Amino acid sequence: MSNRYVIGVDLGGSRVRAVLANEKGEFLDRCEFPTLADKGLYFVLERILECVRSVSSNAPRIDAIGVGAPGPINSKEGVVSNPPNLPGWVNVPLAKLIEEKTGIPTFLGNDANLAALGEFTYGSGKYVQHLIYITVSTGVGGGIIIDGQLLEGHNGAAGEVGHMVVQPGGPKCSCGGYGHLEALSSGTAIAKRAREAASLNKDTIMIELAGSVDKINAKIVDEAAKKGDPLALKLLEQAGQWLGYALINLIHIFNPQMISIGGGVSEAGELLLGPARKVVFEGLMPVFKQDLQIVKASLGGDVGLAGAVALALQESAKSKV
Ligand SMILES: [Zn+2]
Repeated sequence: MSNRYVIGVDLGGSRVRAVLANEKGEFLDRCEFPTLADKGLYFVLERILECVRSVSSNAPRIDAIGVGAPGPINSKEGVVSNPPNLPGWVNVPLAKLIEEKTGIPTFLGNDANLAALGEFTYGSGKYVQHLIYITVSTGVGGGIIIDGQLLEGHNGAAGEVGHMVVQPGGPKCSCGGYGHLEALSSGTAIAKRAREAASLNKDTIMIELAGSVDKINAKIVDEAAKKGDPLALKLLEQAGQWLGYALINLIHIFNPQMISIGGGVSEAGELLLGPARKVVFEGLMPVFKQDLQIVKASLGGDVGLAGAVALALQESAKSKV
């Protein structure tokens, strides 16, 4: 079982990244290419294989490959269903395709679920057994780990926390539903509300920071809030409160020890987490508050790669038992 080597791949809409890792999960080599998803499935597949070949050249052998890809995913079948940022990908058996070309056992996971696994194995959740990880960026995704096990569900699609209803009849979500957490607290939603508010109330530094109302994005809101802009602070507070309502539901159902919040919007730190924590601790039954921590995730941009490595190590350990 000693000296295992695995490859972790993070397939995103804009870039493909891969790392070679040892069994401690330490990254030994890495590779990155633009995805160029509009060139089609086989072009992207070749990019992934090129990355895999590049990082594996320094290892005596590779025991497994873990791949994180945008959901929806059927992780049990290793199939990418039809992600919005990989146009033309419909029910692609990605794990099988990579395995056939490399001869290495390959395992697929939803990128947000794998980010949860990465944060659990190597990041803020390293010392807990029950973790809910939520990434707040362009969208909102997550993963639920209870008793040290990632919750996968019937199709391996569990943990879509961004699509919980937190405001019935609220704004339309990217999935077609209404009032979902993603439609209220994602970077996209925060930016949209910021532009609407700034067009009515010109008394905000966001317009100056962005250059014009229509250029305001979530990063500008964060920057303005950190400079004390009241409107930007209010927008992050609201996003944090909606996140808090979603967390009350999740915590009452799953009884986690830790909630770890990652993704670009989490860079706002306490400006987002503070209001979320306040809503949560006011809304929970006492037993659920015991030892509960709500923290910012610690792995940053490599969290998906860390999760893909953790998946590959887990699966290769199973096959050697
Ligand atoms: Zn939704």
